[in-house]
Amino acid sequence: MTLSRRQFLKLTASGVGATSLGALGFAPGRALADVRNFKLASATQTRNTCPYCSVGCGIIMYGLGDRSKNARLRLVHIEGDPDHPVNRGTLCPKGASLLDFVNSPDRLKFPEYRAPGTSQWQRVTWDWALDRIARLLKEDRDKNFTVRNAAGLPVNRWTTVGMLAASAASNEVGYLTHKIFRAMGMTAIDNQARV
Ligand code: SF4
Repeated sequence: MTLSRRQFLKLTASGVGATSLGALGFAPGRALADVRNFKLASATQTRNTCPYCSVGCGIIMYGLGDRSKNARLRLVHIEGDPDHPVNRGTLCPKGASLLDFVNSPDRLKFPEYRAPGTSQWQRVTWDWALDRIARLLKEDRDKNFTVRNAAGLPVNRWTTVGMLAASAASNEVGYLTHKIFRAMGMTAIDNQARV
């Protein structure tokens, strides 16, 4: 066979390459098939619920770090949970972009309070926020609870405050939320999962 100089160089280079890769045990098909495993193999999986809408899709969050002391977990991937009965592994575009939401520098991570008449928000503790909510609820209930209606019939209702429960809460949390507030006489109760 007669080869030109260019053909000879091409043939030699591809031959050396193939021989070297083969000697190193490199199999392109296998390597490509393994890419997905490499990406998440060492990640920690955490199941959760998408916080956006009332559908309440299940998600799996993948984080780098093994949760050992001083290791800071960083989420690197979020996908739909294939075992979740609501979405069976699928996510809408909003849910599929959850990683940006989680890692956003603008994400609110603690309670804040804006006092009446000011434009400034100040960071407060959860204890402070929950105490204040409880105190305001009690004051309002003490002031507005109705024992009997105009006809003298017992009604035991509290109609000046409403409650909207989160759709991302579990059935148990939703059940307890309704039980507690109904027991206090609140009538305006709803759940985001219904709207
Ligand atoms: S993934 Fe989409 S449809 Fe599912 S809960 Fe989130 S926002 Fe709603």
